[in-house]
Amino acid sequence: MEKSRVVLIPCESYDEETVYHAMKAGIKVLGGIGRFVKPEEKILVKPNFLSVADKDSAIVTHPSVIKGMLRILNEEGYVDVCCGDSAGHGSSRAAARRLGIDESSSFSAKLADMNEEAKVHFEQGKTCKDFVFTKEIVEADAIINLCKMKTHALERITGAVKNVYGYVCGMNKAAGHTKFPNDTIFARMLCDIHAYKKPVLSIMDGIAAMEGNGPASGRPVSMKVLLFSADPVALDTVFCYLVDLDPELVPTCSQGEVLGIGTDREENIDIIIAHPDTQDSGFNKESITRSELLDKYGSRQFDVPRKKARLTFLKGFSDVMTRFARRPAIRKDQCIKCGICVNHCPVPGKAVDFVNGKDKPPVYDYKKCIRCYCCQEMCPQHAIYVRGKS
Ligand code: SF4
Ligand code: SF4
Repeated sequence: MEKSRVVLIPCESYDEETVYHAMKAGIKVLGGIGRFVKPEEKILVKPNFLSVADKDSAIVTHPSVIKGMLRILNEEGYVDVCCGDSAGHGSSRAAARRLGIDESSSFSAKLADMNEEAKVHFEQGKTCKDFVFTKEIVEADAIINLCKMKTHALERITGAVKNVYGYVCGMNKAAGHTKFPNDTIFARMLCDIHAYKKPVLSIMDGIAAMEGNGPASGRPVSMKVLLFSADPVALDTVFCYLVDLDPELVPTCSQGEVLGIGTDREENIDIIIAHPDTQDSGFNKESITRSELLDKYGSRQFDVPRKKARLTFLKGFSDVMTRFARRPAIRKDQCIKCGICVNHCPVPGKAVDFVNGKDKPPVYDYKKCIRCYCCQEMCPQHAIYVRGKS
């Protein structure tokens, strides 16, 4: 069996030229952009636009990474390129604009709206057969996945596998959490999305990652790496190696392996380090082991839950275990009573609501709460944290 190749390019800063050369080198080590997309194809470059956020927040894919990809496609002669993501809160265009990306700086790529629903029935889906994606996802021949290296309250990490949840249009994302109510079932649904339309190439922005209360309220932490792979599971597995986390404890990795989306097995992953030069005349590359990777490029202190996951596929057990799962909670002094958490709570009758009036912070009903953490992801004030042991 051919190994999945994951390329790591050390990258010290978000300087646009530096990132562009690093991305060219990473793609070149994988065989060049022509290995992944054909000239006549309709290409969607899909960053992580969780919300309309600043470039230094580490919430979203950094604009230098997005522009680097668009520039490479433009220089290589690809003409049918668009860029966007169905943002969790706010629009794709607004998220791009906040990052300083508009039509004048997108290297001829169109900025996608990502707000028109397209219903998809996917008979081969094992956990989910019916999706509401955006029109651009359905129409794309090839998707390039520009994911962000972050922690995630439900799945521990969010990277290449999880980033495809942005295929789902708008508020349908929140509703998906009621149908797939625990980390394992949710990960299996994500694998169905990959089976429907797997990104041809995934690139992880880990120059500044997010640790702690991710994916929106954690701390930016400098990891100084870009990762490249055609295998999203292997890519996330290498992210796990970098932060000393067992990938078997990450449902998107373990289920990705089980369902054949990619591999999380160390013996099946070839990790390559390449050091680009800025003249594009070449680069040095070498294979590296998991332990060398952690020692040279990783962080054992990276703040991510490392305790064992509770795995279940049975709805009854899932409901019981939800009661013991970590709870979201509000830091009242940070809350501005905007109600975004209430709007995004997918539970009928709301598990977080303004029970004491709209001039007081919302209150949780933990008996109703399914621990999807949408409220924590969407709070613009980072006022919601997740408490308790994993
Ligand atoms: S989203 Fe955050 S700031 Fe807004 S009401 Fe909820 S906790 Fe308060
Ligand atoms: S309160 Fe928050 S974690 Fe609980 S179900 Fe609603 S959105 Fe999900």
